[in-house]
Parts: sequence; structure tokens; C-alpha cells
Amino acid sequence: MPTITRRDLLKAGVAGAGALAAAGLGFDVAVAQSTTVKQNLRISGAKESHSVCPYCAVGCSLVAYTRQNTDGSVQLLQIEGDPDSPVNEGRLCPKGATAMQLATSPRRVESPLYRAAGATGWKNVSWEFALNKIAQNVKASRDATFVATDGNGNTVNRTEGIAFAGGAAFSSEEGYFATKLMRGLGLVFLEQQARV
Ligand code: SF4
Repeated sequence: MPTITRRDLLKAGVAGAGALAAAGLGFDVAVAQSTTVKQNLRISGAKESHSVCPYCAVGCSLVAYTRQNTDGSVQLLQIEGDPDSPVNEGRLCPKGATAMQLATSPRRVESPLYRAAGATGWKNVSWEFALNKIAQNVKASRDATFVATDGNGNTVNRTEGIAFAGGAAFSSEEGYFATKLMRGLGLVFLEQQARV
């Protein structure tokens, strides 16, 4: 008797439930099934690599399907939730479901953008320019707004003119590092997206 894995069960359950719901809503189940077949053909024989969604600390697992082309290059075919993961059981939130675009979108921003004071548009700049500009602005703002003592004469040493917001793609280590750096500069206004 063939062994049915948890993964097979999840796939069958999702496909069956999806077909029933789609039929009830008036969608063309045959079209949906043919799309699934095409998708399966597309990743048939592809190499499966397991990874973790980079967007937040929930840590949902991903499966990336790749194929090596005849010229030796590797093509990313598909990224989807890993049904074997106890964290997300094959599901991804809308943000995680765009992981493929993170790698392949032609609209991805690949260099720093700078909009000068008074300018109406952004321009591409080098990392050296961007980092120097940030360092200069941080220094100028910190010098201008640093508070050494409060109204009662207590030593507070805080920088009130700068706030910091961490991105959702931070790992725990990056969040720790950013917090240490910002506290070292005296910042008190720290926020972090996806503090889960
Ligand atoms: S962003 Fe969404 S898919 Fe990615 S780890 Fe967080 S909850 Fe999971």
C-alpha cells in the first residue's frame, strides 16, 4: 500500500477544497485545474531548495524551484510555501507570496535613490554618496538636537531630532545591531515593522 505523506495530504486537501469553493462561486474549475497542471509541468524535474521568507520574524519556510539551463545559468522557476514546515504548513501571507518578485521583478530598485532638497524627482546615486550623505545628516541633526540634561538637571544624553524605523526584512541579528547603534547615538524614538 503506498504511503501517504503529510505533504501529499495537504496538497490533496488544498486542491479539493479549492475546487469545491471555486465551483460554488461560479469559477471555471477546468481552467483552474489546467493552470495547476501547467504549473506542475513548469516545475517538473526542477531542483527543490528550501529557504526561509526574509520579510519578518515569523520565519515561514519556502521552497524555491530552479532549473539549470544548457548554458549553465540557473533559472528560478517558482517560489511557494513549504507544506512540510510546522510554521506555515505551505501557506504564505500576501507579502511572502511575492518572494518570487523579490528575485525577478524588473521594477526592483537596485541602487540608492536621492531627492535633493527642493528637487521634484529622484536620481540614482552611488552607495558611497548615499552613505556619506546619511552620515553627514545624522551628525548635523544629532549636534543640533542633542539634549545632555533635562529640565531638572538630570543627565539624559539623548538625540531627540532623529527617529529610526527598522524594515520588515530585518533578521533578529540586524534588529539587535540597529538598536545598539541607534541607542549609542542617543536615539529614543525607535520603531520596528513586524515585531513578531
Ligand atoms: S512576511 Fe508573511 S510569509 Fe514571510 S515570514 Fe512573515 S508571515 Fe511568513
